[in-house]
Amino acid sequence: MQDCFKRDIDYLRVSLTSNCNLRCQYCMPEQGIKQNEKILSQKDLIHLVELISSTGIKKIRLTGGEPLLYPNIEVLIRRFKAIKGIEKIVLTTNGILLADKIRSLKEAGINGINLSLDCLDKNLFRKITRGGNIDKVLSGIKAAKEKDIPLKINSVIMQGVNTQEIIPLIEFANDNKIDLRFIELMPMNVAKNFKAVKEDDLKAIISKKYGALKPIDVFEGPAHYYQVENLVINIGFISALSHKFCANCNRLRLTSTGILKPCLHYNSGVNLKKLLNDNISDEEILMIIKDTIYHKPKNHHLEDKTFCQKEDKSMSLIGG
Ligand code: SAM
Ligand code: SF4
Repeated sequence: MQDCFKRDIDYLRVSLTSNCNLRCQYCMPEQGIKQNEKILSQKDLIHLVELISSTGIKKIRLTGGEPLLYPNIEVLIRRFKAIKGIEKIVLTTNGILLADKIRSLKEAGINGINLSLDCLDKNLFRKITRGGNIDKVLSGIKAAKEKDIPLKINSVIMQGVNTQEIIPLIEFANDNKIDLRFIELMPMNVAKNFKAVKEDDLKAIISKKYGALKPIDVFEGPAHYYQVENLVINIGFISALSHKFCANCNRLRLTSTGILKPCLHYNSGVNLKKLLNDNISDEEILMIIKDTIYHKPKNHHLEDKTFCQKEDKSMSLIGG
């Protein structure tokens, strides 16, 4: 359905858990994040996703925390794929468990995987993720390629942390023919301890090494893509601050605790789990979902220091 600003809202990001097997320094504190609210039961999760999808959702992304920690994620993929109108089920993962899971994900019918990878240097990877083993991620990428699952790599580049990894990441993605997107760090929670490298600075580094960047039309949510003169892959950018994309935003989020969030950057949302627990009828819940979609905020206010409804939770709690 359309919201009141005539945006087609057809993409749902579902956070399956806020737990993670890594502790990326810009996403979580070392000790992890304690989730006080209980997460949705599998039955309630499926029921809510079915209700939300009936408004016209075409694509569902499973995320987290680390979604591959969810027991029997394959059951969810099969159930969500069977929902009328759903064209694609995709996944965002840190890749640690990917090699072990790839066969069952493929059999369940996963349509694509976005892999988060901020560097290729073993020691730096261990440092940024506080203990992660990059070899496992690289095995996961290899396994996904062997199964012909469409892959993208997402990288967050931070000043003084991994700028030296920009070219190695591009070389790796280009050699493996995997499109690469740079995600601009958003200043939420512990991420405020770091400084993003802005899109224009990334483009300058890329064009100096690989030649001109030519914009290409790919209608895919917030990312915009470029063909680069001396690369076989396309490079994408998702830059919430420096290239605000709210006018084209098509997304909704469901957190693992059952909150439906119409905008990542507002600290508000409707507690659908509570509605289920209070035995509110499906018709009424659907009306509330439609009302939430209709009133999706026009844009974020990340740049406005005085805005009081700003979301400041870690991306792992909201579902990045
Ligand atoms: N654990 C999975 C992973 O890392 O791919 C899925 C969840 S994670 C929260 C999803 C994405 O959010 C990752 O690509 C991560 O780099 C990104 N992320 C986390 N915090 C962020 C922030 N403050 N700004 C921008 N991206 C962020
Ligand atoms: Fe875990 Fe993903 Fe957050 Fe890293 S970015 S701590 S992998 S949820």
